[in-house]
Amino acid sequence: MTDSLSPAELLRYSRHVMIPGIGSEGQLRLKQSSVLLIGTGGLGSPAALYLAAAGIGRIGLVDPDIVDRSNLQRQILHGESWIGKSKLDSARHRLAEINPHILLETHPTRFTPENAMEIAADYDVILDGCDNFPTRFLTNDTAFFLKKPLVYGAIHRFEGQLGLFAPHLGGPCYRCLLPEMPDPGAVPSCAEAGVLGVLPGIIGSLQAMETIKLLLDIGNLPLGKLTIYDALRTSFRTIGLRRDPSCRLCGENPSIHSVSNPETTTTHSCSSDSMDSITTSELRTILAGSFQGILIDVREPDEYEISRIECSRLIPLNTLPEHLTSLPRDREILVHCKAGGRSARAVQFLLENGFTQVKNVSGGIDAWLAEEP
Ligand SMILES: [Zn+2]
Repeated sequence: MTDSLSPAELLRYSRHVMIPGIGSEGQLRLKQSSVLLIGTGGLGSPAALYLAAAGIGRIGLVDPDIVDRSNLQRQILHGESWIGKSKLDSARHRLAEINPHILLETHPTRFTPENAMEIAADYDVILDGCDNFPTRFLTNDTAFFLKKPLVYGAIHRFEGQLGLFAPHLGGPCYRCLLPEMPDPGAVPSCAEAGVLGVLPGIIGSLQAMETIKLLLDIGNLPLGKLTIYDALRTSFRTIGLRRDPSCRLCGENPSIHSVSNPETTTTHSCSSDSMDSITTSELRTILAGSFQGILIDVREPDEYEISRIECSRLIPLNTLPEHLTSLPRDREILVHCKAGGRSARAVQFLLENGFTQVKNVSGGIDAWLAEEP
């Protein structure tokens, strides 16, 4: 029965029910709500535990991974006896033990552009607990197209971030904060930068709190704000985030029209640093010689208009898939953007599509202009 609370539920949730502003009405609202968690790792673990205990009626979990011993230092959903087994089986077992009154839906798969819209369509809120950029961009884009609020959390060593992205309610999307996927070498996401286990516990719990506020429509929602927790300084600071009118997703002239785009389709791999790249001064030498290949600029048209490298061809990153058949496979392709981030994605995308002579211009046009005599 989802239209009432049983005596056992009223007792279980009594410490919620006695809070003015929540009451049995608010608790019933939580029972009638649904949340999708992308990932049951460091952030997803505490978030899932608290959301289940709080009585969110339907919780969806997406995770393809199995439990590894090195997870247990922070991924507190899982325990010793689940090592080598599915994280979702482990999560289901633990969450059902905490609260048998809720419905758990498990999606034991990677969250991909092919399945994202379908999986997420049926939930009220999406909680981002993933650990890599392609999935994070995908989660953002999916939430945007489905007009679902996205409760964002991220961690790095001693610092955590919390935000709420919901352009349909006002405020920016994740791409307004991070317009470009970071250069593969720039962020040590694969190379285990390390994290103090309590940190995702704190940020994941904050995500659960914001989710509940959102569902109950209480308090102030952190739209247009990013909260940064610094564990070493014992400080929280909140910075304003504006919606970027030139955002490729939620801006005035968007160029991203589906969840399948270069940021979300890129394979998350640690081998990206083996990508061939050249410096801008090497590019100068190449272009001064008898260069037979092509130089692609993957920025947006308005950026291209302001400054460009002579002889470059404009193919905005998002339109690259449409140009696969017209690009030469027997000649060298050099790719640049503003600073090297978008072009690295482009190079990776071309390599994945069978191009072999592709190189990234590191530093992009920023480095090129800075060197200009
Ligand atoms: Zn945006």
